[in-house]
Amino acid sequence: MKRWTSGLDAEQGAAIHGLILPNSWYPVRLWNDLVDRYIAQFGGGDPQSFRQVAEQVAETDLNTFFKVLLKMGSPALVLRRASSLWERYFDVGVMEPVERGPRHFLLRLTAPRSVERGPGPVTCAVGVPAWQERALRSAGALGVRSTHVACRFKGATTCEFDVIWP
Ligand SMILES: [Zn+2]
Repeated sequence: MKRWTSGLDAEQGAAIHGLILPNSWYPVRLWNDLVDRYIAQFGGGDPQSFRQVAEQVAETDLNTFFKVLLKMGSPALVLRRASSLWERYFDVGVMEPVERGPRHFLLRLTAPRSVERGPGPVTCAVGVPAWQERALRSAGALGVRSTHVACRFKGATTCEFDVIWP
């Protein structure tokens, strides 16, 4: 953590403490910086290395403020609340669930493409599917897969996640 934060300015340094605390909120520009920094310094440049961070964030949060939701809910209930769950993490963008079947959802993320104003390409391509899979497993969806099928950074107007479990 120290090596990661050493290149940050004071404002960023103060805000980074949010990253290791659950239930915190970050300016999205700083969040994108942190993701890139993590991948460069700890992931050998591989965006997939961010997956373990997203899983850790999910795990920490699931043990605290999502505990009741998971205990009372089903995987479908968690996904139906995708919009308010997204707002727990980001103050930009809208995550909208579309129910396709009893164990099949499409999640649609509408957000700015600029990394100054919206969640960046690693967050949607790696972080969101990792978070969803980890959270839904906790809600009982064994074998759940979240696939990033359309991306704002690859020509689509929204990011889309196909979420399905057996
Ligand atoms: Zn995307």
